[in-house]
Amino acid sequence: MKQQGVAVLGSTGSIGTATLRVIARHQARFRITALTASSNATLLREQAASVRPEYVGIANPNGDSDPAWGTGTDCLIAAAMRADVDIVVNAVVGTAGLPATLAALHAGKRVALANKESLVMGGDAVLRACAEGGGEIVPVDSEHSAILQCIGTRPLGEVRRIILTASGGPFREWDASRIASATIEDALNHPTWRMGRKISIDSATLVNKALEVIEAHYLFGLPYDRVDVVVHPQSIVHSFVEFIDGSVLAQVGFPDMELPILYALTHPHRIDDIAARAFDPSSASPLTFEPVDPERFPSFALGVAAGVRDGSAPAVFNAANEAAVKLFLSGRIGFGDIARAIASALAAIDGLPSVSVADLSAADLAARNHVIGWSRP
Ligand code: NDP
Ligand code: MG
Repeated sequence: MKQQGVAVLGSTGSIGTATLRVIARHQARFRITALTASSNATLLREQAASVRPEYVGIANPNGDSDPAWGTGTDCLIAAAMRADVDIVVNAVVGTAGLPATLAALHAGKRVALANKESLVMGGDAVLRACAEGGGEIVPVDSEHSAILQCIGTRPLGEVRRIILTASGGPFREWDASRIASATIEDALNHPTWRMGRKISIDSATLVNKALEVIEAHYLFGLPYDRVDVVVHPQSIVHSFVEFIDGSVLAQVGFPDMELPILYALTHPHRIDDIAARAFDPSSASPLTFEPVDPERFPSFALGVAAGVRDGSAPAVFNAANEAAVKLFLSGRIGFGDIARAIASALAAIDGLPSVSVADLSAADLAARNHVIGWSRP
């Protein structure tokens, strides 16, 4: 069996470190040939010593880099394009992941995509790169992995709709005024998943679910009226697919990102994983489902509306959110301000061109600048 070469972009993060654990159990099939991080040189050095990749890159070194490493934002592309890389795991956070997604797809590689922001910002460009280069996108996001597993080989015409599950985040039972004044610590305290800081805040605002609705639209080619969301606090059902004959399939399991990461590497095959925890239905029950409340989670509705609006709106929504989350995490705006900042950016920046990646980058930058200006009246 030929070993497949894997580049892990964002290897020092939550998904990146989980990917290294998964691959360590499956070394007969996969070999990590490239690793990249943003600035965490200490962990990157440890990972490089254990994995021994051919290439190591650090995008934003702050003095503690190694002379043999690639540096600068282009190191993600350099890692993704290597001849010894068959699969690119894109576990970078934010739109910084987009150029590497495009480059890898153009070069005909499989992209195991955790970096949903790149698909939200550049959906059409990503699909074009895929079609032109012969690459393949396999989602790492647990909901999208679930949908892919449920659809299997059935044609899209047999799918009536998909239903993404959402945990509801730490504020599912809070009233609106308490949510508006939530602290950073409250917002990072996710009930069912341990994740990076940005996606944890996105889960608290439900922006994450709006990003996932847009992600699903592009990945599965479904119009927005065939993508629904239901809140499911236990995070056991990872999503549902409803078919045209009324049959509904779900993919189910204890919440653990290592399964969707492994599946993104092996799709459409499955391989034995000794670390997989046996499923016990009695310890998973009861399973409950409730609608999303757009009044208490206004950013969710803003994001879905931006997806439906299309054009530059998804890029503006995504970039305004990234900028607002950064301001919230540095203590400069309150939790309730995140939705207000996004709404302000979407109202102010509309109808920008959205054909090329340069157009989308301009919309992205305009949204970030708008939010920074908005926060300093
Ligand atoms: P983390 O913040 O834990 O990790 C992000 C990684 O990206 C780190 O390795 C970081 O390097 C690197 N990085 C950050 N900024 C840049 C940049 N500008 N250029 C290059 N590299 C950069 O994030 P997560 O692992 O939680 O999430 C990664 C992606 O996966 C996100 O898009 C998220 O939405 C998605 N996702 C995450 C899930 C989870 O369970 N965590 C579940 C589903 C999707 P450094 O450490 O040096 O800063
Ligand atoms: Mg998800």
